[in-house]
Amino acid sequence: MNRISAAYIHIPFCVRKCPYCDFVSSDHDFGLIRPYVTSLIREIEITADRVPGGPLTTIYIGGGTPSLLAPESVDLIMNTLRTSFAVDETAEITLEVNPGTVSLASLSGYRKAGINRISIGVQSFSNDILRNLGRIHTAEDALRSVDTCFEAGFRNVSCDLMLGVPGQTRSDAERSVLLLTEKRVPHISCYSLGLEEGTPYHARYMNNPELLPSEDEERKMYHSLRSILIGEGYIHYEISNYSLPGFLSRHNTVYWKALPYYGFGCGAHSYTNGMRSGNTVSIRRYVDLLSSESPDLNLLTDECILIDREEAMKEFMLLGFRLLDGVSGREFSDRFGADMALVFKLQLDDLSRRGLIEKTPDRICLSEPGLDYANEVFRSFV
Ligand code: SF4
Repeated sequence: MNRISAAYIHIPFCVRKCPYCDFVSSDHDFGLIRPYVTSLIREIEITADRVPGGPLTTIYIGGGTPSLLAPESVDLIMNTLRTSFAVDETAEITLEVNPGTVSLASLSGYRKAGINRISIGVQSFSNDILRNLGRIHTAEDALRSVDTCFEAGFRNVSCDLMLGVPGQTRSDAERSVLLLTEKRVPHISCYSLGLEEGTPYHARYMNNPELLPSEDEERKMYHSLRSILIGEGYIHYEISNYSLPGFLSRHNTVYWKALPYYGFGCGAHSYTNGMRSGNTVSIRRYVDLLSSESPDLNLLTDECILIDREEAMKEFMLLGFRLLDGVSGREFSDRFGADMALVFKLQLDDLSRRGLIEKTPDRICLSEPGLDYANEVFRSFV
């Protein structure tokens, strides 16, 4: 397996839980933030001894709302990563922030701690939609956060937008993306709303789909944003992601290329030594286990799946097809010592016959119609 050069760190605290969100995050255990950071540091140090890797070339501090951490805590986490694994001097180091939780002082502090990329959960620039989504911020807060990131000296800024939200029209979505392109925000993600089981949104909308934009309308939104972004010079490099040249997300590319990574924190997932595993989703249990005298990291694990060679080949395909330049036969044979065209002959012939994929001399990728049926392409490799 490739050397591990990526790390994800999960910060499971939010000011208020959004009704559509099933990420591991709490909006009341704030007294646990300090002990949580101490536990993270222990988990990182112990893991570095058990599963050596590095130097890290990408670090992603996500959540939750990592911008609820003081810059000093981020500095502590960064120093632990540096001493435990070494961090490449050109590493991409991202911190997720939510509008309404950042200031020029906190962003400057994060920058000093070594963060060089900020990902902002904007979701929309319509106040009605933000209210419906239960977000704590307004459109004005979101615009201010983008400006403040640039003011604090960050060049690499990413903004997330959501599609298919109740009450959203195509012109709402277009207006949101245009506000970001005007500011030349270098990276923009446009994700579709998912109805996740157990969330208030699931209860509210699962049996009332007429309250959501129709599938057809959502596809129109997707294609409209896509043409705006491409017209503005953005590269559409992954199904939901666009960047100006030189700003594609290195961290997410690790996931899409099915490469290994460390995951630290409550609910964080890792892919190390051919195993995909997930930590406990209980913040209290996470902190308690790591506060013991000699913590047993095995007890932290809630789930663990061995990815054998056959499974790894399938993952390579189904994750790789998320990227617009698709999968490469050469990369496949370098990794698995096998011929991709032979191993997946049945699936590739079928998808090609249906016009969902197309071949270039050394790659295979989704075709234009395949973009709308990407889930069918992925399913072929499950
Ligand atoms: S801010 Fe993000 S992580 Fe927190 S509840 Fe809302 S969607 Fe979930």
